[in-house]
Amino acid sequence: MSRFFSAKYANLTPYTPGEQPKDTQYVKLNTNESPFPPSPNAIRMAAEAAANLQLYSDPECRDLVKKAAEVFQVAEDEILFTNGSDEILNFAFMAFCDESHPVVFPDISYGFYKVFAALNGIPYEEIPLREDFTIDPKDYCGIGKTVVIANPNAPTGIVLSTEEIEEIVKSNPDNVVIIDEAYVDFGGESVIPLIHKYDNLLVTGTFSKCRSLAGGRLGFGIGCKELIGDLNTIKYSTNPYNINRMTMAAGVGTLMDEDYIRKNCQTIMQVRQWTVQQLKALGFVLTDSKANFIFAMHPQADGKEIYLRMKKKGVLIRHFDTPRLRRHNRITVGSKQQMEVFLEKLNEVLEELL
Ligand code: PMP
Repeated sequence: MSRFFSAKYANLTPYTPGEQPKDTQYVKLNTNESPFPPSPNAIRMAAEAAANLQLYSDPECRDLVKKAAEVFQVAEDEILFTNGSDEILNFAFMAFCDESHPVVFPDISYGFYKVFAALNGIPYEEIPLREDFTIDPKDYCGIGKTVVIANPNAPTGIVLSTEEIEEIVKSNPDNVVIIDEAYVDFGGESVIPLIHKYDNLLVTGTFSKCRSLAGGRLGFGIGCKELIGDLNTIKYSTNPYNINRMTMAAGVGTLMDEDYIRKNCQTIMQVRQWTVQQLKALGFVLTDSKANFIFAMHPQADGKEIYLRMKKKGVLIRHFDTPRLRRHNRITVGSKQQMEVFLEKLNEVLEELL
């Protein structure tokens, strides 16, 4: 730390992103990326947009907003695009949380929530998941704080139903409820339609998972126009050109290729089901994941040991070294070929360990 670093950040523990190794050709199942390339229109339109990079991008993202409003069936002033959904989440923490609006989220969830709270000096409460890793929606009903819930949750992949989320939103009319739908396209149900019924619901989403644009950095928030107006105030006070021209064009192209995206989601769900069966046959215990990852533990094998040995064999999975998670690993659902390699190496590891 330099002697110039502001004291207010001195104790900040930043988020640790999953490894992005350059050295070996890993089978990379650690950061929930898509195994499929971006859609054909996304690639073509991003390349075309590169020819105009001398010009700033459109701060209003008009083409993208217009197309997205159509696809998500909302009005154009009910959606805001950001540099990944990490940015919309940070904007939402800045806009809707403070000393008098503390934030609450599950103790096991996306690790960045805690960082955003700490970064912005927001008091936060973590509510423990049940023993089986499910969220008890009653814990959040009438809690009177800003609520953040990933649905499906990470790293468990477990979903709450629309009815359960609606109860939480309805019972906290004076607080914003943020539903992070980063993984909703792999078997969950989006609560976007509820934004027309509740002015305190903000839904966030990303193009990083099923839309194959993790490297493009494109996320969004959907809510009533007043919420989106507040988030725009934050955006225009930090970085008005937060979406670069190539990503904006890639976003439009992706939304033109929804059939391609839906087909990829179907494939990932099929591969997930197949992988789950294989893992169960090997004795693994799994949550009922509706995301593009699997959360698994073996009763007789240490989670960290599995992770380290898999890495040595060229397969990267994600291990979280925290008390409630260290027996588990989170495994991204890749292509069928990638999962075959994963299972082959996992069999070897189990033979070594058991
Ligand atoms: N929400 C959840 C639950 C996530 O796991 C992630 C990242 N993997 C994000 C949001 C942020 O994704 P991105 O910034 O790539 O949109």
